[in-house]
Amino acid sequence: MATPQPEPLGLPRAATPRTFHVWTIGCQMNTAESVAITAALQGRGLTPVPALEQAELVVLNSCTVRESAEQRVQGTLGNLAHRKREDPDLMVALTGCSVEPDTAAMEQRLPMVDFFFRPGALDHFLAQLEAHEVLSAPGSANPAVGYASPISTYVPVMQGCNKFCTYCIVPYRRGREVSRPIDEVVADVRMMTRRGAREITLLGQIIDHYGRDLPVKSHLAALMEAVDGVEGLERLRFMTSHPRDMDERLIEAVARLPKAVETIHLPVQSGDDVALRRMRRQYTVERYLGLVEKIRATIPGVAVTTDIIVGFCGETEEQFQHTLDLMDAVQFDVVHVACYSPRHGTVSASWDDDVPQEEKEERRRRLERQQEETQTRINARLLDTTVEVLVEDSQSHRQDVPQWRGRTRTNKLVFLPREGANLIGRTVPVRITKTSPWALQGVIV
Ligand code: SAH
Ligand code: SF4
Repeated sequence: MATPQPEPLGLPRAATPRTFHVWTIGCQMNTAESVAITAALQGRGLTPVPALEQAELVVLNSCTVRESAEQRVQGTLGNLAHRKREDPDLMVALTGCSVEPDTAAMEQRLPMVDFFFRPGALDHFLAQLEAHEVLSAPGSANPAVGYASPISTYVPVMQGCNKFCTYCIVPYRRGREVSRPIDEVVADVRMMTRRGAREITLLGQIIDHYGRDLPVKSHLAALMEAVDGVEGLERLRFMTSHPRDMDERLIEAVARLPKAVETIHLPVQSGDDVALRRMRRQYTVERYLGLVEKIRATIPGVAVTTDIIVGFCGETEEQFQHTLDLMDAVQFDVVHVACYSPRHGTVSASWDDDVPQEEKEERRRRLERQQEETQTRINARLLDTTVEVLVEDSQSHRQDVPQWRGRTRTNKLVFLPREGANLIGRTVPVRITKTSPWALQGVIV
């Protein structure tokens, strides 16, 4: 997906960097891309360092989907600019959704950045580094270092989004939908399971469109079937689905495939039809509720999670109430809520952002309070039941009490007493002994 870009201004360079740090914020797609950036730089002989302050090359994998993320990116860039005044050899690269398609204006605005590359354009970045002799060409450096994969990890299966919801910057920054062929995805999953991964989440901004653009059209259900066959893999997830495009074939595949777990992330954004129309979401509350019903009827025990925006342009108290009503009707397992913030260049950015900030925050708090009650109830139902837990790592949850940390098939966090053999990467039956809205405690049976 390398897109030609103007060369960056004012490149430094006496010394070439030996160490690097990839700083990441935003969605799981960014997390996955940062893993790929790290592997590529490591494969070319650079050494990753845990702290940004120690690195000679810093790659900032940014996000501008919500204002809170954008502010943290700005803050980090500010710190780097400060450091660069003392250490002109420091190299900074910027990727992720903050990078505009045409970087000319950004180069003026962000003189501390040496390299810009669009999300997914890692090859272009590596080529730039080679062109400026920051990196040697592949083959002449260390071979790719074999790293251990986390137990649960991500595999991007498509880039971009063609939807253009009125509030969303993603299509402008990640471009049009481009799917990866099934073979390529399966090869990635094989490699990751060989390196220790037991759970894979397939990623796409609108993953229900997977395969539409391939020379031989495909479908997410077909991809899931192929990945389900990978030896060593235990659990298969995918995200993000769109309520307009998720279809029966996919729902049935989740129900049928042994490794596909019972979790569906289905962002609704609002529970009001007028707001949904203004967001250009292309579905109604009725369609959404019908879809959830079908999902629950087909996939027993499924957890349904969502994203909601509060305080979108023109959102009245009554419309917000409709969102609370929808949450009440659905009983989501998890809700990610964001206060609306206009994103420059999107359609809604030209509309009146008329819900005051305090009101947005008040709505967010009300929504979170209601959701906490729902989660308390949903999780309490698990008390004394036995669930399957995949142990991901060990963690001192409360001070000096080391515990295993894992997840249920429905993606709920579970803590277990750490005793006996190393359980990391193992799937164990667990009886739940304590619940809270945010996590479960249990013992192995
Ligand atoms: N493809 C996914 C979402 C991608 S963006 C979908 O269709 O739902 C991730 C989340 O960020 C969105 O679900 C939305 O809740 C939030 N978001 C996106 N743009 C936003 C904005 N301008 N203001 C506040 N939240 C926003
Ligand atoms: Fe953004 Fe809508 Fe595409 Fe999701 S579907 S990435 S919200 S434009």
